[in-house]
Amino acid sequence: MANAEDKVNRTDVNTLGEFGLIDHLTASFKLENDSSVKGIGDDGAVINNGSLATVVSTDMLVEGIHFDLMYSPLKHLGYKSIVVNVSDIYAMNAIPKQVTVSIALSNRFSVEALEELYEGIQLACKHYGVDLVGGDTTSSPKGLYISVTAIGQAQAEHIVYRNTAKVGDLICITGNVGAAYLGLQLLEREKQLYLSNPGIKPDLEEQDFLVGRQLKPEARKDMIRAFRNNGLIPTAMIDVSDGVASELFHICKQSNVGAFVEESGVPIHPDAQMMALKFKLDPITCALNGGEDYELLFTIDPKDIEKVKYLPDIYIMGEIVPAADGIKLHTKGGNLHEITAQGWQHFKS
Ligand code: ADP
Ligand code: MG
Repeated sequence: MANAEDKVNRTDVNTLGEFGLIDHLTASFKLENDSSVKGIGDDGAVINNGSLATVVSTDMLVEGIHFDLMYSPLKHLGYKSIVVNVSDIYAMNAIPKQVTVSIALSNRFSVEALEELYEGIQLACKHYGVDLVGGDTTSSPKGLYISVTAIGQAQAEHIVYRNTAKVGDLICITGNVGAAYLGLQLLEREKQLYLSNPGIKPDLEEQDFLVGRQLKPEARKDMIRAFRNNGLIPTAMIDVSDGVASELFHICKQSNVGAFVEESGVPIHPDAQMMALKFKLDPITCALNGGEDYELLFTIDPKDIEKVKYLPDIYIMGEIVPAADGIKLHTKGGNLHEITAQGWQHFKS
């Protein structure tokens, strides 16, 4: 049977990149139903259900791309697969309520192994207050695939998109960034050492924080609650899965604005700072490009500054500026650097 792969003209997916590819494949799809309020292009899709909106988000984790079972315990992996999805629902300022989990697995996996995976899934469901309501199970020739869909709810007027940041808004971030990336570097280093000498024990002592940020991240459920309690609705929001720089690019591109970021405003945990230097990496580069922190990057109207000032764990890292001013980092040394989005590299070999 002939298919597109047989054609003489073959375009490598790398030429488009992830977002170019999604645009390319979906540009001709138009929303036909009045209830489809927001389709492709944000952390979640929004469906109108009268006064309440339903938010839907889906993510797939692939063995060898998103996780390595040499250092990811299955229980943690199950937990993380729920976290990365509910994080997208929170990024729309909505509350996750249900999840479906689909898995494809090779015969390498035992019932006991899958029980561990589901222990983690159940723990996360409890922690985030979501019900597992379905999914699909099938076999794969090689490796484990986990696809989770999360469904959430919010009042329609509470939903926050990526494309609504305004010039003069303050750019805020929760928690700290860069640690999950450094945790991954540590795990990779120990894996390489182990592969070259299986006799040696991994040296991860006192690195619980960084390794934990990689293997067992949490989504910012607490922040969405704090926003509600303080009557705050951000002007735009996204969660940090691909890295602050990449996420900031999404907000700026979709809102048609630029950004001015103060290096001193980017929160980096002291353990991440130290480990970056040990790896001879620039801490701010790790913080801006690392990814997998699952923090919330959002913008607020300056009149709402009092509402965030007294909330713990929120940092103001810059300001939204006109698009013509670009996306810039003002370093501690006083220099101005263009921020480039380097978030995503999955298709690179
Ligand atoms: P996130 O990083 O928040 O998970 P993604 O970068 O995965 O978001 O996706 C960006 C947008 O593109 C989302 O609206 C997502 O639903 C949509 N999308 C991604 N892949 C596809 C696809 N294969 N077909 C249709 N829409 C897609
Ligand atoms: Mg997201």
